[in-house]
Amino acid sequence: MRYNVNFLAPTAALVGLVLQCGTDAAIIPDSLGRRVVVEPRSVHTIQEFPIRTDSAPEPPRWSTRIRDSIVSQLFRKADRQGRRRESQRYLSETAKVVSQYAGDVVLRFTLKTPEEIKALAEASNILLLDVWSTTKTHADIRIAEADIPPLLDLLPASLQHSHARLMHDLSQTARDTYPGASPVSSYHGQTLDGVQSLFFEDYQPHGVIQAWMNLLQTLFPTHVEVINLGKSYEGREIQAIRVGTQVTDGRRKKTIIVTGAVHAREWISVSTVSYLAYSLITGYKRSDDHLLDTLVDEFDWYFIPTLNVDGYVYTWEGDRLWRKNRQPTTLAFCKGIDLDRAYNFHFDGSSQSQSNPCSDMFPGTSPFEATEAKVFSDWTYNITREGAEIVGLLDFHSYSQQILYPYSYSCDNMPPDLENLEELGIGLAKAIRLISGEHYEVTSACEGTGFAKYQGTTGGGSMMDFFYAEDRIPYSYQIKLRDTGSYGFLLPKDHILPAGKESMSLLKYFGRFILDDGSPMQQHGDLKK
Ligand SMILES: [Zn+2]
Repeated sequence: MRYNVNFLAPTAALVGLVLQCGTDAAIIPDSLGRRVVVEPRSVHTIQEFPIRTDSAPEPPRWSTRIRDSIVSQLFRKADRQGRRRESQRYLSETAKVVSQYAGDVVLRFTLKTPEEIKALAEASNILLLDVWSTTKTHADIRIAEADIPPLLDLLPASLQHSHARLMHDLSQTARDTYPGASPVSSYHGQTLDGVQSLFFEDYQPHGVIQAWMNLLQTLFPTHVEVINLGKSYEGREIQAIRVGTQVTDGRRKKTIIVTGAVHAREWISVSTVSYLAYSLITGYKRSDDHLLDTLVDEFDWYFIPTLNVDGYVYTWEGDRLWRKNRQPTTLAFCKGIDLDRAYNFHFDGSSQSQSNPCSDMFPGTSPFEATEAKVFSDWTYNITREGAEIVGLLDFHSYSQQILYPYSYSCDNMPPDLENLEELGIGLAKAIRLISGEHYEVTSACEGTGFAKYQGTTGGGSMMDFFYAEDRIPYSYQIKLRDTGSYGFLLPKDHILPAGKESMSLLKYFGRFILDDGSPMQQHGDLKK
């Protein structure tokens, strides 16, 4: 860990709740607070451990004020000491991480016909271009300035002039996303409290996020727990913050899972998932908004800020625009499997898709070859077998401001409860619009990414599809966050808090809708609380 977090060591040791047991199984707290042995999907023995009974009652108000003061001081100390060193380190490393993008631009092609979509997709495949975003109407492509003429040569006449530059200097834009590389956020001083402004003022590296999660667990033992899902390909722990009070009346709580960084370069998804966890944790019993209390009391939430943890680390140390995990492939010089194509539901096993490990959408040679997809799937399987009822999945990505529901693999087949998915999706978009005015498109994933089906890889093997169809998580969504193309994956840090706040509005709507099983939101008051 490179950030200065030594002050956390004693407290972290006190609350180390996750025990490893061999290489194939681990002991984790289950949704009811019991510890269970978690094993891969093929193993059927689950051993129960005694219920954890050491949770403390919620401290009184004077106590929470002292606690907040401690948190603030700790973060300020870490921030002062760590930021100096981190800034120096990243400012020197950043040059290496972003230098490869000098001279790159992002072009937006306006697409009008299926023939144009097909031609652009084929040309992108031939030139191995990095397709940043696709919708029904346009495609954004990162390309070296020198490669623009060869690309245009491959395109029909109608596309020769229907493109515009979204970004001109990719290396500088990328450099600006690292801490300490740009002026202090305009949101500084306008945040809820000092801690929030410190942590959410910048995108944070993996080590800082880990320490922050442990600190939250230590400070809020009544309703926060850090758990390990399993290890990534490179051996890092994939961690979740579990948020929820323990029930005492014997009923089972429903479970909602919130994920970020399935694609490593989508940093706004990491900060947003962290912000959602933080807002629920610190708002519990401390806010005028009693919906937060209800959500923490009625659900078990699992927030996983960096599901693709190896890829995320690599975006800080090797390549800011890395998307996949870091697993080797059959080609030594092309690492990585796309964790949103790696699942066992309509996995794209075509030779065309699998023959190109250099593609950013390489799905692996078989379902669940990607370590992190297998770990995540095994973990959900085990908590479900143990009794958890997972009712919601919010998988945060960027960019393009879309709320996508199943299916991704095909537009020809409709999900059985399309009406519910659409109704809730429209409500989620409205919740965002009310809080920030931002427009989010609501559509099926296959429609929303219309370009994908022509790219030699389909939308098959998608994470959202798998959990919806195979694990029967009825409300499964992929949320593509800000922006609509001005910065794309290189969204400036000034957007961290606005994106977090509009996503919090979405999360509250999501939880309330499921609680009410779809009854209208109006009876619950103002979303802007
Ligand atoms: Zn993504």
